[in-house]
Amino acid sequence: MLMHSAKRLHISTIGCQMNVYDANQIAGVLAPLGYTGSDAIDSADLVIVNTCTIREKAEQKAFSFLGRLAKIKTANPSLIVAVGGCVAQQEGEAILKRMPHVDLVFGTHAIFRLPDMIRRIETTRCRLVDVRLSDTIEFDSPVAGPLTDGQVSAFVTIMRGCDNHCTYCVVPHVRGREASRHPDRIIEEIRLRVDQGVREVILLGQNVNSYGNKEGLCTFTELLERVNGIADLERIRFTTSHPKDLSEDLIRAFGHLEKLCRHIHLPVQSGDDEILKRMNRRYTRDGYLEKIARLRAHCPDVAITSDFIVGFPGETDRQFQSTLDLIAAVRYDGLFAFMYSDRPQAPAAAFSGKISEVVKKERLQALLDLQERITLEKHQAMVGRIGQVLVEGPSRGIEAAGSENAAAPIRWTGRLPSNHIVHFSVPGSGPERKEVLTGTVADIIIEGAYAHSLWGRLTHRGMGAAAEKGENSIVS
Ligand code: SAM
Ligand code: SF4
Repeated sequence: MLMHSAKRLHISTIGCQMNVYDANQIAGVLAPLGYTGSDAIDSADLVIVNTCTIREKAEQKAFSFLGRLAKIKTANPSLIVAVGGCVAQQEGEAILKRMPHVDLVFGTHAIFRLPDMIRRIETTRCRLVDVRLSDTIEFDSPVAGPLTDGQVSAFVTIMRGCDNHCTYCVVPHVRGREASRHPDRIIEEIRLRVDQGVREVILLGQNVNSYGNKEGLCTFTELLERVNGIADLERIRFTTSHPKDLSEDLIRAFGHLEKLCRHIHLPVQSGDDEILKRMNRRYTRDGYLEKIARLRAHCPDVAITSDFIVGFPGETDRQFQSTLDLIAAVRYDGLFAFMYSDRPQAPAAAFSGKISEVVKKERLQALLDLQERITLEKHQAMVGRIGQVLVEGPSRGIEAAGSENAAAPIRWTGRLPSNHIVHFSVPGSGPERKEVLTGTVADIIIEGAYAHSLWGRLTHRGMGAAAEKGENSIVS
């Protein structure tokens, strides 16, 4: 076997969970070439910028970061600079023309071709572009890239692309047509992750409900059933489910698949039918509310989160008010809200009635204020209950403080099945407990409620004991 000397790879990732997954795949496919991950850019042999173009700001961020790399390349001419992800897909060769210090532009479907391209650049110092998109997944080999220390949760992409064409969205243009991975490859990859020590997987797709349809593979719910059977895997999450395709099957799965976390991210984008129509979302407000009611009927404690876009072209005050009314009616457990941003390749860029930045900001703030009140009320209602927290490790910044004094209680962090973040204390514990607690599921009694998290304490009573005594109810 050919041995390679160690080379340092720095990956900078901007954007969504799919980009985080892709970054890990990139690290995985480049490891056989001798590349190991490094936080330091200045001493790297290869820097990969994994870009996002979902909103204008993300694209600007990518270009400004790339611009800063020019200086580093001047100081270190042997450095290879590569640009991947959605901006790379969108701009292609234009990046090479605009930025002479960039060696490689590779699109969203080119990750498995990356090792060959990097080898060519290493030997011939050529400059390359590969932004070929294909409608099917031509090559799929389960790759489980490196984990961070104590990582308990990992993303696994189950499908790529999107066929929905929401009028504001660039994803179908930069991620291509929807295509699903074979379930056997997905299961193999999850098993690799579990063998590495991962306890939870988050299955990723732009519209997981249509998983396998085109290829005649199994349904998404059938896939979940198979994943549910994987030994030593503790929890399953997924994102994103498009409301128009949320099936009765999947709704019922929340009631019976024990590893499936009782949380669904169901982006609605707007509470107004006219806006939904112009967004090409293909559901109505009432249809959406009906699905929420079905979910809650089958699984009363299911946590529901969503995405919203404020200031879509032509959105009136009344239409925005409908969005606020919807939020108040659903009482989400959390949400992400974005100011509409023109994407040149998306049809809405040509729509009239553009909303000013000032109004968009006001609407965004009003929406976030409303949700913050709801979240806090919902968090307060959880105080006094016991929840099962998958422990992710010491709270950030706390580990160092704890290590100064082994006897001092340190703070831990983890998530409930509902995806609520819980910080908690273990009275009398020191940092030596890190290995013991990370990756375990701990019973935590909730004692405090904040806008973005909960505070609790490890309880030594088991769930069963607490339930038997009827002292505390259990939160999902
Ligand atoms: N496939 C997912 C769905 O349909 O719900 C969404 C994926 S997209 C990466 C994440 C979110 O970005 C969307 O739900 C939407 O709220 C937001 N988004 C997409 N395009 C946008 C745009 N042009 N301006 C502002 N927000 C946008
Ligand atoms: Fe974009 Fe719509 Fe596809 Fe989501 S479903 S990725 S918002 S086109």
